[in-house]
Amino acid sequence: MTSNFNSRFSIPLQQSDNAVYACIQKEFERQQEVLELIPSESLPSKAVLEALGSVLNNKYSEGYPGKRYYGGNHVIDQVESIAIERCKQLFGCEYANVQPYSGSPANAAVYLSVLNYGDKFMGMNLAHGGHLTHGHKLNFSGKSYSIVSYGVDKETERLDYDAIKRLALQEKPKIIVSGSSAYPREIDFKAFAEIAQEVGAVSMSDISHIAGLIAGNVHPSPFPFTDIVTSTTHKTLCGPRGAVIMARAQFGEAIDKAVFPGIQGGPHNHQIAAKAVAFGEALRPEFKAFAGQIVKNAKALGTGLMEGGLRLVSGGTDNHLCLVDLTQTPLTGKEAEALLDTVNITVNKNMIPFDPRKPLDPSGIRVGTPTLTGRGFNEEACREVGQLIAKAVFNSQDASLLDRVRAEVKTLTQAHPIYPMLKEENAPI
Ligand SMILES: *Cc1c(COP(=O)(O)O)cnc(C)c1O
Repeated sequence: MTSNFNSRFSIPLQQSDNAVYACIQKEFERQQEVLELIPSESLPSKAVLEALGSVLNNKYSEGYPGKRYYGGNHVIDQVESIAIERCKQLFGCEYANVQPYSGSPANAAVYLSVLNYGDKFMGMNLAHGGHLTHGHKLNFSGKSYSIVSYGVDKETERLDYDAIKRLALQEKPKIIVSGSSAYPREIDFKAFAEIAQEVGAVSMSDISHIAGLIAGNVHPSPFPFTDIVTSTTHKTLCGPRGAVIMARAQFGEAIDKAVFPGIQGGPHNHQIAAKAVAFGEALRPEFKAFAGQIVKNAKALGTGLMEGGLRLVSGGTDNHLCLVDLTQTPLTGKEAEALLDTVNITVNKNMIPFDPRKPLDPSGIRVGTPTLTGRGFNEEACREVGQLIAKAVFNSQDASLLDRVRAEVKTLTQAHPIYPMLKEENAPI
């Protein structure tokens, strides 16, 4: 330690704080060594990470471009305007707010702009694939509003639009939320918007998980049907952690007010710049092929899982994820997650529709392909990953088999490194 505090400006992290540096290094190595199958994760580019680590972090800019409560914002105005324009171009919408810190506050802002506390809203049941912010009783959404939940059909394990329509007509919610975190099938946003229109509700689609698939034209868009669309930017879109709200122009003023001053203070400008970079990347023609590969890889992963004897909820996938039902296997979701951790395969335990078990130890696991696709895996490799998962799950007591699975995982990860160009300088980003 030196007595001059400003000497910190010239000391790299490794020297100034070895404890934190060592954690970053270790996490880099972990990401390098595991098959990361959590479907809400992906690999942002070096350019996105650079923008996140920039001096834009330093600036306060409450307000919106041209209308700030602080001086010195002419550059920040440009950054935010670039992000807004690219977002509108990418998704074909009339209005965009790029300030939400993350997906949960984005949803909170939409509810604040449309509902009064106590109003009724309809969203997807968490256990059937919905998100906490779609009305779970422990979440602000379930505490602040009156919730009506819809789920999937017990037989098909898919959304039943007639049943959702009947429920909506009976309950007359003020907003109907479509979108999910663990639903492996295509969502008919047009059908949801028509139901909302029929009952006089505002339609909202939360495309957090599939934004990259929509931007890449491999999943139908909620535009021009849905009134308001929220999305995170860090899932299939491969941007920084963060979110956006998009909408028909008429909702814009109320949403802007709900984000600031309603929910948030100063925008995170480094994050907004990184969103702009990610939108720019997603506008490039090659992003379409990448998004298409995510879906092809998920189908191949599903094939491998089923070949290994595992059942997929709804029998397969249309998007980037598979939901695996473990009820006919020796393991629970929690046990499978822990076992797979020991062979360097990272998944998350997940409820399945009509799950007889509890959220902390449910009957399923959720697996997806955005990160593997980001490191160059093709269908053949993903199918093999599915088979490896099934082998481990059905032979969890066989130490030598698990050793062989671990060795296969090592071969696969070493053939497809993350951030390969950074390896030489050995930088943990
Ligand atoms: C991930 C997710 C969110 C929340 O995003 P956070 O950034 O984790 O707050 C909201 N809605 C859906 C459907 C999601 O999958």
